[in-house]
Amino acid sequence: MTNLRIPGPIPVPDDILETMSWQMINHRGPEFKDILFRTTEGVKRVFETKNDVFIMTSSGTGAMEAAIVNTLSPGDKIVNVSVGVFGARFGEIASVFGAEVVKLDFPYGTAVDLDKLRDTLNAHPDIKAVLVTHNETSTGVTNDLQAIAAVAKREFGKLVLVDGISSVCSIPLSTDAWGCDVVATASQKGWMLPPGLAFISFSEDAWEAHAEAKMPRFYFDMSAYKRYFEIGQPPYTPAISLMFALDLALQKIEAEGIGSVFERHFSMAQMTRDGIKKLGLTLFPRDESIASNTVTAINVPEGVDASKLIGILRTEHDIVLSGGQASLSGKIFRIGHMGYTTAEEIQEVMDALAVALPKVGFSPTRIEA
Ligand code: PMP
Repeated sequence: MTNLRIPGPIPVPDDILETMSWQMINHRGPEFKDILFRTTEGVKRVFETKNDVFIMTSSGTGAMEAAIVNTLSPGDKIVNVSVGVFGARFGEIASVFGAEVVKLDFPYGTAVDLDKLRDTLNAHPDIKAVLVTHNETSTGVTNDLQAIAAVAKREFGKLVLVDGISSVCSIPLSTDAWGCDVVATASQKGWMLPPGLAFISFSEDAWEAHAEAKMPRFYFDMSAYKRYFEIGQPPYTPAISLMFALDLALQKIEAEGIGSVFERHFSMAQMTRDGIKKLGLTLFPRDESIASNTVTAINVPEGVDASKLIGILRTEHDIVLSGGQASLSGKIFRIGHMGYTTAEEIQEVMDALAVALPKVGFSPTRIEA
């Protein structure tokens, strides 16, 4: 079977896949109402929030858009804190909908510098919201969201909008305790599901902002989701099959315990990082303490053709890895280990790299433990 090791979508466990072949039900009937209420409560527990959480039919970008259009008006000033491609996308969406975007960009491979965030917030007292990526999938870097939210929310009283797409359910994120107003995530990452659902939380401050927010919205207007939720329905036809799958995925997550899910992600990531270093390769994040537990970004060694390496892994080993995005194309490659990833799957990647690297002109310095 193909070892799909990209940073989402991820291989979905068989029992979850099977639920997706079940017959349709009435999405405005009692059976769906039970599923909607049960899954929403389950998602809330993963988010560690008592606030509203909505299950949307969309990929993660839809939830990023929803975070923005539901809390902001054209002309509002925001700071977009970015450490990579997805960080830039968050700011771009805000800009498309008319926000005045102050860009706070950090070099790829580094994390957010809190002092620079403070400087920016001091320099622009009229900033309304801070947009930030928890885990930057394009660079394999996890930001210290707790510290960022403490500065943005507690020190400066700003609205905090979080792209938690490749972190929630894999890396600890305490929505309420950390003061995150809106957190957006997507099913194809740590949730062990196919793509197609997005989850979004809204704090009381986010609802207050919503009451004033004038950005255009229809499909992603969260007040419709809220109104319909009260009668146990989604506003529009939901992805029923994915809801069956979510119901089972949440049962599995609860049976394992969310703490164990986080630990499993840490240990698969650590195994990947150790394996990479044993091969003589280096991690892209400048400091290992900021390296992500859901995706490992690795420098392509000098003189190595990244697409050739990825091609050999695909055709000769049935392993699918990701290259670098945008300006990182050809410079890094990435191994995804979110969702249900086993030690055997990671070992298989390391063994295949040991065989493939010499074929692209790099001699692995494999140190056997
Ligand atoms: N943000 C991050 C951090 C992501 O990892 C992704 C998906 N790779 C996105 C945003 C975009 O999500 P989607 O492709 O589900 O729209």
